[in-house]
Amino acid sequence: MKIDEAREVRTTCPYCGVGCGVLAKVAANGEVTVRGDPDHPANFGRLCSKGSALAETIDLDGRLLFPEIHGRRTDWDEALDLVASTFSRTIAEHGRDAVAFYVSGQLLTEDYYVANKLMKGFIGSANIDTNSRLCMASSVAGHRRAFGSDTVPGSYEDLELADLIVLVGSNLAWCHPVLYQRIAAAREKRPDMKVVLVDPRRTMTADIADMHLAIAADGDVALFTGLLAYLGQHNTLDRTYITAHTTGFGQALFAASALDLAGVAAATGLGEDELVRFYSLFAATANTVTVYSQGVNQSSSGTDKVNAIINCHLATGRIGKPGAGPFSVTGQPNAMGGREVGGLANMLAAHMEIENPEHRDRVQRFWSAPAVAEKPGLKAVEMFQAVADGRIKALWIMATNPVDSMPDADAVEAAIKACPFVVVSDVLAKTDTVRHAHVRLPAAAWGEKDGSVTNSERRISRQRAFLATPGEARADWWIVAEVAKRMGFDEAFSHPSPADIFAEHAALSAFENDGARDFDIGAYAGVDAETYEELAPLQWPAPSQGTPLWPAGQAGRPEGGVQAGHSSASTRFFANGNFYTPDGKARFIPIRPVPQTRTNEKFPLVLNTGRVRDHWHTMTRTGKSQRLSQHLAEPFAEIHPADAQHFGIGDADIVRVSTEHGEVLLRALVTARQRPGSVFVPMHWTDQFSARARVDALVAPITDPISGQPASKNVAARVERFAAVAFGFAVLAERPASIDADYWSLARCAAGWRLEIALEADRDWPGFAASLFGADAPGETLAYHDVAGGHYRFARFAGSRLTGALYLAPRPVAVSRGWAVEQLSADHADRRGRLAIVAGRPGGNSVDRGAIVCSCFGVGANQIAEAVRGGCVSVEAIGASLHAGTNCGSCRAEIRTIIEARRLHAAE
Ligand code: SF4
Repeated sequence: MKIDEAREVRTTCPYCGVGCGVLAKVAANGEVTVRGDPDHPANFGRLCSKGSALAETIDLDGRLLFPEIHGRRTDWDEALDLVASTFSRTIAEHGRDAVAFYVSGQLLTEDYYVANKLMKGFIGSANIDTNSRLCMASSVAGHRRAFGSDTVPGSYEDLELADLIVLVGSNLAWCHPVLYQRIAAAREKRPDMKVVLVDPRRTMTADIADMHLAIAADGDVALFTGLLAYLGQHNTLDRTYITAHTTGFGQALFAASALDLAGVAAATGLGEDELVRFYSLFAATANTVTVYSQGVNQSSSGTDKVNAIINCHLATGRIGKPGAGPFSVTGQPNAMGGREVGGLANMLAAHMEIENPEHRDRVQRFWSAPAVAEKPGLKAVEMFQAVADGRIKALWIMATNPVDSMPDADAVEAAIKACPFVVVSDVLAKTDTVRHAHVRLPAAAWGEKDGSVTNSERRISRQRAFLATPGEARADWWIVAEVAKRMGFDEAFSHPSPADIFAEHAALSAFENDGARDFDIGAYAGVDAETYEELAPLQWPAPSQGTPLWPAGQAGRPEGGVQAGHSSASTRFFANGNFYTPDGKARFIPIRPVPQTRTNEKFPLVLNTGRVRDHWHTMTRTGKSQRLSQHLAEPFAEIHPADAQHFGIGDADIVRVSTEHGEVLLRALVTARQRPGSVFVPMHWTDQFSARARVDALVAPITDPISGQPASKNVAARVERFAAVAFGFAVLAERPASIDADYWSLARCAAGWRLEIALEADRDWPGFAASLFGADAPGETLAYHDVAGGHYRFARFAGSRLTGALYLAPRPVAVSRGWAVEQLSADHADRRGRLAIVAGRPGGNSVDRGAIVCSCFGVGANQIAEAVRGGCVSVEAIGASLHAGTNCGSCRAEIRTIIEARRLHAAE
């Protein structure tokens, strides 16, 4: 598809594993607009708040546009030569395992394929791992144990066909909003459809749940082994399916019976009555889908959790059928594509196994490779430990930010700093990881690059360029291939285009594949550039004609048939068995719950980490959008009111959260949605946006023994009130050069920046204001200083424009953030208005919208509450009155919460 400014380009959202289709359009004046692709089978036109704001994230502000060596701009030849020669020399001197690639689920499949090919096939090491290790490695391991392959059996439409959806460790409303909306819409059409949420927190996803099981951290294994025992006791098993298509049921049932109901209740923190209600609902509902995500995967027992869930589906034959199956939803946009090309250290390309000599031989012959890796490489946590102890001497990080996202993040940062040679390919010039790179390579960003991604339902979609590549940025596949050529592998890496790489990737999937491997897109082997350009979303498998879809010698085929093209129809695996094990049968895994208690006297709380609605990963993209930055504008710790009282913490206090590994400073958010004994902290904030809020600095490098995935949701922690003597809030037209405060958090707003601060010791406030806004900046300054009361207010104007305002007080500042932010773009010719700014109070005609709830239309909580008072008592009525919730719909659950809160308030 050629880039044509007059028409829309079909592409794919770069955020989560839902993989929504996007139509992007560049107007003649260069303005970019996006909308959901109504024909894409993942989203049928919907986009969430993040997808809707994509056009706000593509400016060139902060971009890395030229190669750099030690911070000096250079040209591509010098940078590539240095990378290739240093990697080659390191391998020659210290062996091939002395080098490593740490890559990303943000890469396109073609980028991933080339990086994996270079490391596993030509360098001959398997030291390539990916941030997908942090996301869904336990699902991969669980699938492979049960199915003999990393296969997601179902499709999104199963979520609409199910009579019961069990959401385990998944805040779908915020993390996969379009899937959430598909379920919510299906439920409106079929009110008998039931939803159960299993999550320690009462997240916004509870809005559609008929039952919320506020489970204790890592109680999931006990919950699902208990379910298997219940199904056995109540004779609600599919004996025919078990006998025909599985092995090991007896051992699994025996292991699951280790705990009686009281034991399960103790291990899960749930009541026996709650358990029985859930178990009987599951037992009675044939069309059940269990959706699981990071709450399952990011655990030291993640693989067992996955298999405990799969065991229940195998035992009831609820797999691969319309509206029934276990369903792993990936966090990253291309985690699945990475799995397909072998981007994990313990896999080979095309779902082949690194431990299998036949598979290694096949891949080596296909690539004409000198030396395919013979053993699994280092998984992410091990990889950075090897960087720390000097075993890895040359490291290339692509499209990811491990200084923020890896567990024990301070130790990871120290390791990277000490590594003799670090290359980072990124789109941004300043991230917490880029700052330590010896060589910085500018990568093309979303909208500039071409390739493909695979979503959680195995659907491959194209990401297409609609913008010119700025500066000297290049596609990741090109960068890797150029280094490979300079390392002496010219012929194997002479790919002229992503189409050529995709054609090779598809051919490898079909190479000597007689149906014994699930991943087969042989129909696209050798695809030409034109066909690739027009490629419509397709769900795999898509073998070439004549290739069976199931292991040779077995009857049956995936339900639904092969779908290629722009179709909403789905393919499913395993309704008729035909698993990818030697005997074609699924394996029940015998699992016993093992307590995962980590809290102790010193660290009595369970720290749980996760995402918020409007940010993505380390905010390198969403942090650019003022709309997305308004929903939750600073890092926070959610604490239950009972714990807050126990630890002497008030709402909006600053708190220090600490663990054995580090400490952070955050805003306290006291809420009964949190489970008592737990604290939740989001993962997004970095040193670029806050003083000390990199939550992964707190997380221990404890991993699942099978998958190697870190346990990011069960960390022993302590929370204390930070003894701030002053709290502050500021709005600024320009980002300040530095912020000298113990706590600070910076976020974009409509005409500049908003800043929250807290200080442990008194300051010279005028001097502090000067450090923020510039001592000699021109313009009129108004200030008010109540020395005895500890209040200080400051505003500076350039003509009639506000360039900055600062409010300091001994308690959290009560100034309306929404109102203050709007003053940056208002006209202040009137002196009374200027004085109102210094006073921090909206003038007569000003509206205080309150905290932004609807990002699309900028509607705040105060406006919604006012509309409820005026008689709007449904989400639809609020939408009709304020438009809130009528575009992407991501805020509808929060609107409903505000309506309910007002209703309760009125009833009191
Ligand atoms: S749900 Fe939102 S973030 Fe995820 S792919 Fe769709 S638009 Fe993007």
